[in-house]
Amino acid sequence: MKRQRIVVLGGGISGYGSAILAKKVGHDVFLSDAGTISELYRERLEQWGVEYEQGGHSMDKILSATEVIKSPGIPDKAPVVVALREKGIAVISEMEFAARYMGKAKTICITGSNGKTTTTSLIYKILSDAGYNVALGGNIGESFAYSVATAQYDWYVLELSSFQLDGMFDFRANIAVLMNITPDHLDRYNYCFQNYIDSKMRITRNQNSRDCFIYSADDQIITQELEKHPLRSRELPFMARTAVASGAGDACLSGSLFTARVGSSEVEIDTDKMQIKGLHNAYDAMAAALAALAAGVEPEKVAQSIYSFSPVEHRLEPVAEIDGVLYINDSKATNVDSVWYALESMTRPTVWIAGGTDKGNDYTPLVKFAKEKVHTLICMGLDNNKLQTSFEGIVPNIISTDSLDSAMRAAVSAAKSGDAVLLSPACASFDLFKNYCQRGELFKEWVNQNVK
Ligand code: ADP
Repeated sequence: MKRQRIVVLGGGISGYGSAILAKKVGHDVFLSDAGTISELYRERLEQWGVEYEQGGHSMDKILSATEVIKSPGIPDKAPVVVALREKGIAVISEMEFAARYMGKAKTICITGSNGKTTTTSLIYKILSDAGYNVALGGNIGESFAYSVATAQYDWYVLELSSFQLDGMFDFRANIAVLMNITPDHLDRYNYCFQNYIDSKMRITRNQNSRDCFIYSADDQIITQELEKHPLRSRELPFMARTAVASGAGDACLSGSLFTARVGSSEVEIDTDKMQIKGLHNAYDAMAAALAALAAGVEPEKVAQSIYSFSPVEHRLEPVAEIDGVLYINDSKATNVDSVWYALESMTRPTVWIAGGTDKGNDYTPLVKFAKEKVHTLICMGLDNNKLQTSFEGIVPNIISTDSLDSAMRAAVSAAKSGDAVLLSPACASFDLFKNYCQRGELFKEWVNQNVK
């Protein structure tokens, strides 16, 4: 291998792992972060003797790179990236780099606008319950590159954002999963939806006829793209509303049952017996079942692991039932589509807490379920105007609040026995909270401390 000068931009989870892997395989490495690097990652960089800087970028050191690994959080518009592109220096992502060194290991890669973490966690659980030598990585778990540097796995289950996919060129997913495509992150794609679609479709890049592509056949954007650009991979569609046939296999939901089939391997699942509820979770389970069958897991084991899988934290997570009122934390619902599925899955009259930093939301798709299921909407944010006007005349009772405490007090007094109180904001959390995790933690803490 030719020794290269590798520069890593960003010292978060993907960056520190990439730097350590680059060092381990013998490259000359420099990591640069314009912000601060956590203590844990600094310690690890030092252990491995990786040169790094934080609080700014030394352009002379960066522009001497032969190749740059960019963390997904750094936008293409950042001056440092613009300067690299002007000089014609290749900018790639962690997965592109790490995959060069993972030997014969295979990858299952999951992307989509919603459902990535749930589906990734479920696939990982099925494979690890079945005794596979498997690592979890990408946006969750350990850094993929760090796992490649420090251990040997047969399988990697990777959650990939569109930003990781943008830096993918030669990488090939053995099993690719595309959950759905709905508008998100348009600020990073010149406000052009097609750019974001193209980015998501990159998950199929380089796939050959032995690889699998698992996708939602109910998603019109995906099916249109497939018509425009037919693939070489084995297509494994999953669906609840359409009927699409594929010789390789598929999964189809009918009533509460779905059957997932890959070749001659088949499993039937009763979604009513799953701990994760709602149509969206049925989609996630169908995608996970197809991926696990494609990876060779026995059907009975697939079923066992699906039934024992509990919701990932902050995703329609039941917190407590107190005086007949069920409190549900769906803080991760930061866009309209994920709230659509949350409301769809509600079987009780609902007090719905929403609001925060609006990302240019159009709330129209939520009107039908809001009318049917929500008797009280509690707006929790610094600017609640848009939410209030969107649901005037649709939800009988709308209350505006500007803190978690006042929102929760209003929710408790509006909820009657048999109701649900659902935190499913449709917005980012940055006006009142550090991030969606903190918003969800504080919601849970408030319920456990104040509702008796
Ligand atoms: P991601 O990692 O893509 O953000 P998560 O699994 O963390 O996805 O879920 C994010 C939000 O989307 C949660 O509110 C969850 O209930 C909802 N969700 C999960 N699966 C789906 C799906 N298939 N379609 C739409 N929404 C979903």
